[in-house]
Amino acid sequence: MVKIGVLGLQGAIREHARSVEAAGAEGIIIKYKEQLADIDGLIIPGGESTTMRRLIDKYDFLDALVDFGKQGKPIFGTCAGLILLANNIVGQDEAHLSLMDMKVERNAFGRQRESFEVEIDLKGVANNFEAVFIRAPYVVEVGPEVEVLATYQDKIVAAKQGHYLCSAFHPELTDDHRLTEYFVKMVEK
Ligand code: GLN
Repeated sequence: MVKIGVLGLQGAIREHARSVEAAGAEGIIIKYKEQLADIDGLIIPGGESTTMRRLIDKYDFLDALVDFGKQGKPIFGTCAGLILLANNIVGQDEAHLSLMDMKVERNAFGRQRESFEVEIDLKGVANNFEAVFIRAPYVVEVGPEVEVLATYQDKIVAAKQGHYLCSAFHPELTDDHRLTEYFVKMVEK
C-alpha cells in the first residue's frame, strides 16, 4: 500500500486523510519536514494559502517541499494547495512552490459565490463529479506542459503537469473519492 502524506499545517487535513484511506492508500498527516522522507506522494490541502505559506516558512518546509516535487514524487494541490503549486499568482510579485507552470487567480469566482457545488467532467478521471468550491481560485493560463482536466464556466479548475495534479475545488468533502483514487494511481506508478 502506498503512503500518501497530507500537509498538516492548516486547512482540510483530516478530510483528506480520510479520503486517501477510502481510496486505498495509507494517509499520513505531515507535521515535520523530516516525515517527507517516509511518504510516496503528498496532498497540499485547501485552507488559506497566505496562512499556509506563513506556517511553511515558520516550520522551514519550503525547500523540502520543492525538493520533494523535484525528486519526481507526486503532489496534489487542492484549492489553496493549487495556489501554492503555481508559478504565477495574479496581483502578487512572488509565487510559493512554483512547481506548476500556470497563472492562478485567488478568490476568483467572486463574493456572491463564496461556495457552491456543481457537477463537472474530469477528463480521463470521472464524469459527473461533485465539485465543492469554497472561495475558490481558478487557473487563468497554463504553460505547454500542463494538461487541462476540467473547466467550469470556461475557467480551468483542474489540471495535471507530469506528476503534479491540482484542483480548484475540494475533492475530499464528499463521498466521491474518484479524483483521490486517480492521484493514488499516479503515486503507485
Ligand atoms: N481563497 C483561499 C486562498 O486564497 C483558498 C480557499 C480554499 O482553499 N478553500 O488561499
